[in-house]
Amino acid sequence: MKHLKSLNKYFWKYRVRLGAGIVFVFLSNYFNVLSPQVTGFVIDFVQRSLNLPGYKAPGKKPDYDGLVNGFINSVEGNDFSIGKVVALCGVVILVLALLRGFFLFLMRQTIIVMSRYIEYEQKNEVYSHYQKLDTAFYKTQSTGDLMNRIAEDVSRVRMFSGPAIMYLANLVSVISLSVFFMLKRDSELTMYVLAPLPVLAVTIYLVNNTIHKRSEKIQESLSHLTTNAQESYSGIRVIKSFVQEKAMLGFFTRNAEEFKKNVLGLVKVEAIYFPSITLLIGLSTLLTIMIGGLYYIRGGHNVGINTIVEFVMYINMLTFPVSAIGLTASMIQRAAASQKRINEFLDIKPAIRSQPVLVKTSLDGDIKFNNVNFVYPHTGINALKNFNLEIKKGEKVAIVGRTGSGKSTIAQLLLRMYDVTEGSVEIDGSNIRQIDLAMLREQISYVPQDVFLFSDTIENNIGFGMNHFTRSDVEKAAVKASVEKEIAGFSQQYDTMIGERGVTLSGGQKQRISIARALIKDPGIVVFDDCLSAVDARTEREILTSLNEYLLEKTAIIITHRIFSMFSFDKVIVLEDGRIIEQGTHEQLLRQEGYYAALYKKQQQQDKAEN
Ligand code: ADP
Ligand code: MG
Repeated sequence: MKHLKSLNKYFWKYRVRLGAGIVFVFLSNYFNVLSPQVTGFVIDFVQRSLNLPGYKAPGKKPDYDGLVNGFINSVEGNDFSIGKVVALCGVVILVLALLRGFFLFLMRQTIIVMSRYIEYEQKNEVYSHYQKLDTAFYKTQSTGDLMNRIAEDVSRVRMFSGPAIMYLANLVSVISLSVFFMLKRDSELTMYVLAPLPVLAVTIYLVNNTIHKRSEKIQESLSHLTTNAQESYSGIRVIKSFVQEKAMLGFFTRNAEEFKKNVLGLVKVEAIYFPSITLLIGLSTLLTIMIGGLYYIRGGHNVGINTIVEFVMYINMLTFPVSAIGLTASMIQRAAASQKRINEFLDIKPAIRSQPVLVKTSLDGDIKFNNVNFVYPHTGINALKNFNLEIKKGEKVAIVGRTGSGKSTIAQLLLRMYDVTEGSVEIDGSNIRQIDLAMLREQISYVPQDVFLFSDTIENNIGFGMNHFTRSDVEKAAVKASVEKEIAGFSQQYDTMIGERGVTLSGGQKQRISIARALIKDPGIVVFDDCLSAVDARTEREILTSLNEYLLEKTAIIITHRIFSMFSFDKVIVLEDGRIIEQGTHEQLLRQEGYYAALYKKQQQQDKAEN
């Protein structure tokens, strides 16, 4: 429960709505509770006027609400016919029902609307926290978990801040109002009538615990089921090509079976729960009629037939709110568990923080790695060891090496996706930790190794990193990335949607759109991580030719597993297991006859074979 305290800031923010909502709940119940009194009066009035057999005039006037008493006095003051009085009372009861409905409407408009506002703000709070967290965090979390927090958990918390609060307010006001008027009418009868209520409360509490446990189980098996289905949809091509439909169906059926078993368990408990509540409440009604009847027959109490009718109506009013106690309690339990998860998540501090010491608005592009040691958090893989590299402004450096040798890690460290474990990375002579993080990343044009395109138009994908861009900027970038001809071939050209419901692009096309996204920016530093792996040799040549011009004034780090001989690098670095094993110019490395020379020879042979 204490976890829900973190919602107080929201409740305080929306205190006017919340306060008004509670007043409306009270008012709606107030008008509700008046109708038994009007009914009681009209029964008494008819009995009295027609002098029906067995009618005993009450010893004293019933202690109704002031409003009802006022109405009774004005009716009795006028000499209305019986028919008129009955009709009048009918109209009053109708008006009371309308008033009740009106305030119920207002109650929902305040409390439920408030809960939707809170939900909205909480979703934004969670999302913006996601954006602050670093790459290392994402490596340790499953997407399903991340999704759940922003969708499932937030809506469970909303069930507390909306419906549960509404039900609670309703319960308290219904019980206090009806018991108040019942006690005023006949305190002894009230005691008898309410006697089953404690039993009811205990039953509800016990059964509710069972229901809660079972629903948790259902939730869990449902999440297995959805994960299962989701993986099958996205992996459908693999499933089909390996002819595993039957096996997958069997797997899914087992999950569905588990879900069915859990749901049926809950259905059974609920099937017992609601009838027993009805039984206990029926018992109250029975007691009212029996004991009230005895009082009436013996005449000792001030009880008439109208009293019995009033009590039965009060008890009916209590039925729904009381039977909702269990539901409300489990809503609160679940909300508390969800809020706990949300709080745990919000308490995670991002490992990479921007604490700029230096005021800079742009970077020139002198890059220096000083004795960098880097160990990946969680896995403990030592990806860079004693790594030193100096790149002067305007130099072009190629980084070559086997997969897993640490090439991509260099790019990750330069962009501060991770902080170095030891040593330092400097740009323009200052440690990158002292530079504003957003500025650092804005000043580097980066093509990641794995392409990611958003489900959006080609134009928006290319212009993604820019605050403002025009169609002609996008087109120029596409030309530089040699993808403009293919885009022109699509019927909607730059407005073509890509992604799940749009066109499916080939690996090479995706790669080049991702390159165009980097080339539309014009910063001083460029980092390309193996971004030509899926394009053919001719396109590669085209891109490299346009790159030559684009890179003219820029500092460039080009990570590649192919050697671009037509591109003159100032330096080539060969990495092996996190260390530099060879470095120099293309010619120097060829003369060394090491890894680089061997790779070059192999590539030459391949190229010859292809041509
Ligand atoms: P390359 O780009 O040369 O193929 P990487 O820099 O991606 O190599 O990886 C270097 C080493 O670090 C590899 O052993 C790889 O398994 C490990 N590694 C890469 N990324 C991560 C990560 N996010 N978490 C843990 N280990 C990683
Ligand atoms: Mg890599």
